[in-house]
Amino acid sequence: MCSTMSKAAPSAPKAPAQVGTVYLVGAGPGDPDLLTLRAARLLMNARVIVHDGLVEPAILAMAPRTARLVSVAKSRSRHTLPQDGINALLVEEALAGNDVIRLKGGDPFVFGRGGEEAEACAAAGVPVEVVPGISAALGAAAAARIPLTHRDAASVVSFVAGQCKGLTEQDWSGLAGKGRTLVIYMGVATAEAISEKLMADGLAPDMPVAVIENATRPAMRVLRGPIAGLAALVEGHKVKSPALIVIGEVAARNETELRTFALEVVK
Ligand code: SAH
Repeated sequence: MCSTMSKAAPSAPKAPAQVGTVYLVGAGPGDPDLLTLRAARLLMNARVIVHDGLVEPAILAMAPRTARLVSVAKSRSRHTLPQDGINALLVEEALAGNDVIRLKGGDPFVFGRGGEEAEACAAAGVPVEVVPGISAALGAAAAARIPLTHRDAASVVSFVAGQCKGLTEQDWSGLAGKGRTLVIYMGVATAEAISEKLMADGLAPDMPVAVIENATRPAMRVLRGPIAGLAALVEGHKVKSPALIVIGEVAARNETELRTFALEVVK
């Protein structure tokens, strides 16, 4: 059995490290209570956590003290680790025998680049499990009491990235209008251009819009108005990422109910 062992290494050869699993885990929109049980269980037993900047500190605090936390936070202006580096890190940790919790805001497969990470792991022979999370659209809609569908108002919902590197420019035609709800992720910086394109495509200037900043977090704000005033709304209230834009008749619903909550609501 040991016939191929080198004489310089007389002790028994170590068994090759078992390959770890990469868990692509959705952390939800912020409120730790919105984690799935599966995500919470994995977190509480984690040894290595690779997380991005959208994950709330209260969620990271659920990990054991002994867990190794690696931040790969990304922002528009600052890239701590490019995506290739993140992929390589996940693969390297798993090949070294570590199970890795790759914790992402919302859902890993909704604008989360989980698809790229899953592909990189598969190419390296690393097993992957995907744990879904509550995507920002769902968390924000619930927290702002905006039903994304409604029998009287919308039977179609679209999730669109306001900006998405690598893809040609988004075609906005037909995405917003009567009977449909459009949810825009990463759209704050380009809100003005988006609203202009949608209106040029025929969207009524008084179509309701809601901007939900920091959904489900203590600093949550909900701003509402007509689409024609979207740019002014975002600028006037200095809306910052993370924020979602919801466009459609549903965005004007349930405003009064929201006022019973201790949230800052600006119209
Ligand atoms: N995978 C994530 C999305 C990542 S893209 C998900 O499924 O939710 C990042 C964008 O998500 C942000 O720019 C913002 O548009 C949105 N977002 C994430 N968390 C949010 C929050 N708590 N409130 C409002 N928008 C949020």
